[in-house]
Formats: sequence, structure tokens, C-alpha cells
Amino acid sequence: MDKAAVDPDSTRSSVSSGGGNGRPAREVGVLVLFDVDGTLLLSGGAGRSALKTALEAVYSAAGPVESYDFHGKTDPQIVVELLSAIGRNPADIRERLPTLWPVYLAALKEELGRRVREGLAMALPGVGDLLAGLEGTRGVSLGLLTGNIAPAAELKLAAAGVEARFEFGGYGSDSESRNEIARIAVERARALDGRWGEAHAVVIGDTPRDVEAARAISARAVMVATGRHSTGDLAAAGADVVFEDFRETEAVLSCLLGGNGSAPGAGASGGEGPGA
Ligand SMILES: [Mg+2]
Repeated sequence: MDKAAVDPDSTRSSVSSGGGNGRPAREVGVLVLFDVDGTLLLSGGAGRSALKTALEAVYSAAGPVESYDFHGKTDPQIVVELLSAIGRNPADIRERLPTLWPVYLAALKEELGRRVREGLAMALPGVGDLLAGLEGTRGVSLGLLTGNIAPAAELKLAAAGVEARFEFGGYGSDSESRNEIARIAVERARALDGRWGEAHAVVIGDTPRDVEAARAISARAVMVATGRHSTGDLAAAGADVVFEDFRETEAVLSCLLGGNGSAPGAGASGGEGPGA
């Protein structure tokens, strides 16, 4: 596919008129909201180890951190659930979160450094080409929709070599609820350019919780089975399109930009969405 030939006006809900906020007019087409863990990168368990260290330092307990399912959850939600599980009061847990985060970030930086040296923290296959393709396409704005607190997302992306490609984001530091984070991410895009809205959004993630967040803002849910969930799990959760991974870059780009996501060899499957 010739990326220069992609016409954002051919995608659903595109808006091409006006120059919002006094900025130069720019074609508005697709607001792509990426999850981080299991979607863009793997960090080899750095988050779990760092959180255990920080919880023990700040709360003198880490709850069932070794067995707990982190997938698709937000950082504050994880902390509240882990410590509630051992009888701590949720209000007390939340009150100490501002003390926890700096300790967590220091531990995360160290854990990520070790994982990078061991080759365990990395961008997932095809992610570099996919982001480059999206960045090179007129009418596309790249954002994050992640349960990580913002500086943790930044550390993980930097460790995996995918930093500095996102114009805005919604983070675990904004809310315990991923659905609310989705709304905040779109608000931030709208603050940058008043023409963006929920109708332009596509959520890309690896868990049923990402599908749910997409539904919360009536966005298309394009899922990838590079985390813990299979293509079958994600289709059953209601994903519009599911990819095994992002190696078929042109097929993924075509799906995101309004083309046919189920082109031969795309490895895509799913429900009733525009790419299916
Ligand atoms: Mg994820």
C-alpha cells in the first residue's frame, strides 16, 4: 500500500473542514489509542517486580502480587485490589498512593534496565513499522490509552525503544477506571485540536478490558493477541478485529485507516466491525 495515497476522508467519521483552535487546518481522520503492555511491548515482568518492592516499602505488604492477574488493569486499581485482598482499607490505600508512585518508578527504572540487558524488555513484532506507517499518514493522531501511570508508560516505552511517538494520552494516573481513561484520552486529543472526538477513535489493545474501554467511548476495538489473551478470547469479548500480531503491517494499517482488515494473509478475525 502506498501510504501517501491513504485518504483520511475515506475513513468513517472523517472531518476535513476548518482549523480548530486557530491552528493551521489539518485533515482529521483517525485517532489511534494504543495500550502499552502486551500491545506495544513486553517488559519481562518488570512492573510486577517493581510494584512488589514498592508496596513492601510503603505499605509493608504486597498482597497476592505473585499470582494476581495484572492484564488490562490500571496501576491504582492493581494496588487497591492487591491490598484490599489482605484486608486493608481502600481509603487508606488510596491516601498513600502519592507516596507509592515515586518508589515504584525508581524500582521500575532499575527492573527495566535489567530486563533490557537480559533481552526481556522489547517492542512486539511489527510495532516499529506500524507506528512509522501511522506517523507517516496524514490525518492520523497517535495517543496512548494505558493503565500505567504516565511516567511508568514513558519508562516502559523508552526501554523498548518506542518513545516519543505519541501526541497525547490517558493514563492510570488519571483514573482507576480504564473506561474513564479512554474518555480522558479523547478529551486531551480534543484539547489539542477541537475537531477530534470519540467518533474518530480506534482502541488498540490486548485484553477484554481494552474492548470494554473501546465500547465506553463507542470506538472501534482492534485487538492483538500478543499478550495473555488468544484471538478467540478477544473475539469472544466483542473485538471488531483481532490480529495474531502486528507483523502484517500493511494489513493492520489498512484496517486502521478504513480499508479491509481481513485481507488475505492478514491473520485477522473478528466480528462486525469495518475491518471484518
Ligand atoms: Mg495490555
